[in-house]
Amino acid sequence: MFGFMMDDQLSIIALLRFAARHHASTEIVSRSVEGPIHRYTYREAYKRTNQLAHGLAKLGMRHGDRIATLAWNGYRHFELYYAIPGIGAVCHTINPRLFAEQIIYIVNHAEDRLLFTDLTFVPLIEKLIGNLPKLEAVIIMTDRAHMPATTLPNAVCYEDLLDGNPDTYEWPSFDERTASGLCYTSGTTGNPKGVMYTHRSTVLHAISTCQRDSSAPGAGEAILPVVPMFHVNAWGVPFGAPIGGFKLVFPGARYDGEALHELLYDEKVVVTAGVPTVWMALLDYLRKSGKTLPDLRILAVGGSAMSRALCEAWEKEVGVQTAHGWGMTETSPAAVNNMLAPKEASLPYEERMTYKLSQGRGRFLVDLKIVDAEGKEMPQDGVATGELCVRGPWIASSYYKDESMSKSSWDAQGWFHTGDVASIDPEGYLHIMDRIKDIIKSGGEWVSSIDIENAAMLHPAVAEAAAIAKPDKKWGERPILAVRLRTGVQASGTEIIDSLRGALAKWAIPDEVIFMDEFPYTATGKVAKRLLREKVLGAAAPDKVAS
Ligand code: AMP
Repeated sequence: MFGFMMDDQLSIIALLRFAARHHASTEIVSRSVEGPIHRYTYREAYKRTNQLAHGLAKLGMRHGDRIATLAWNGYRHFELYYAIPGIGAVCHTINPRLFAEQIIYIVNHAEDRLLFTDLTFVPLIEKLIGNLPKLEAVIIMTDRAHMPATTLPNAVCYEDLLDGNPDTYEWPSFDERTASGLCYTSGTTGNPKGVMYTHRSTVLHAISTCQRDSSAPGAGEAILPVVPMFHVNAWGVPFGAPIGGFKLVFPGARYDGEALHELLYDEKVVVTAGVPTVWMALLDYLRKSGKTLPDLRILAVGGSAMSRALCEAWEKEVGVQTAHGWGMTETSPAAVNNMLAPKEASLPYEERMTYKLSQGRGRFLVDLKIVDAEGKEMPQDGVATGELCVRGPWIASSYYKDESMSKSSWDAQGWFHTGDVASIDPEGYLHIMDRIKDIIKSGGEWVSSIDIENAAMLHPAVAEAAAIAKPDKKWGERPILAVRLRTGVQASGTEIIDSLRGALAKWAIPDEVIFMDEFPYTATGKVAKRLLREKVLGAAAPDKVAS
């Protein structure tokens, strides 16, 4: 027997409509690409989103069309996040840091009909446009006064597209499983793979984003996603914020320490979210300038592992609690968060640190397990390690238009195999050991490159560290460590290696240290281990899969 409850379909536009009604005067503050700070409220954002929907209709956009964005975190991008899925189309966010060939590939693979771009990327699109035959128009996200002279055919001014349109729109109803967003993963070899989100997956993910244990602030408090809207929906913050009534603060094109500090300070931001490299740079700025962040409570860290050095520096020097989280493009992305429960928070310091540096506990509705090479489930005892597998309503069930890729990542029971090696302890905390392709196999032992990096980062001269495998006749592979030193500080390779003794097992101590001026990064701001292996080892680089 079925119950008698309404069967409303979940829809993304409902999130913003809710905020326009119940958090109407809460602000959205953006550093605009043109320069000045822009402010408006959820009420105004919703009105403009309605106007934008009319603009999309005028350009002939229909249900199911793919519409691309190449843009920073800002209010116009926010409007696109809602108007595009609102009309039943798909918002395809593109990472501008991808290689040009990858951008061409994904725009053509997605068959995007329109591309919305910030001023910053107009020269890039001018170069690529000849290879994008399906694109019908490029909308430049600015006003008439700032429209650049461009060689782009069919360039449209964003504000012209909205101007004069009614500020109400008859949003269509459709099945909650309708495609709403598209984001491509960013491997450094092979073609990117498309992850197609739905209204249902996005709304459920957004609701879970608003929980205290997902590092959320409270209604009216400010959150600043440094994590970009052009990759994995800025960890879902732009969708969660309207539900919780959070004040949204967008950093625009400026991610440097000074600009971030200014916004965090002036807008009294209490939660901010981003990858470790951004927090290292901001920490550097705070140390040099002596400036403080009195309102900031939580620094959410994910995308790659947070080192102990980073965690301790933020907590002890800046007085801000770090909160680790884990996710992937395929997981919408947030699946695991780490706000320590009172029991773990009150443990003696060293034990507390072990929990603090773990990735945290799974969110409700996300199932986690670890499996061995044969796919057999391993115990969640905090000791056994295996490949992390996930399931849930906001986990991808296949890649978009790519059957062959899909087969290799999902098992017969529908679990998604993440490519991460992890353990899960009896309290449910996830400890990521490494990516399978980055793990170092030395004489039958698995050595975590993340553990070596975390230990190396505790050396006062080390600004950044990455461990990679070097082929070795006797041991199969041996770890070597690439290091970037802090400006003006010296340390020898031997000193750094000596500092690791005691902290790591004997076989995990790197054989040598290579000094780098700069690390190669992936499009999502992580150290590109495959490129690093090629750079450091040249022809001797082990034949591991892409990173
Ligand atoms: P992406 O799809 O680009 O977001 O990358 C997802 C991958 O980033 C995961 O499979 C992990 O290897 C890595 N990752 C994300 N968050 C963390 C974290 N907190 N600690 C360690 N690795 C992480």
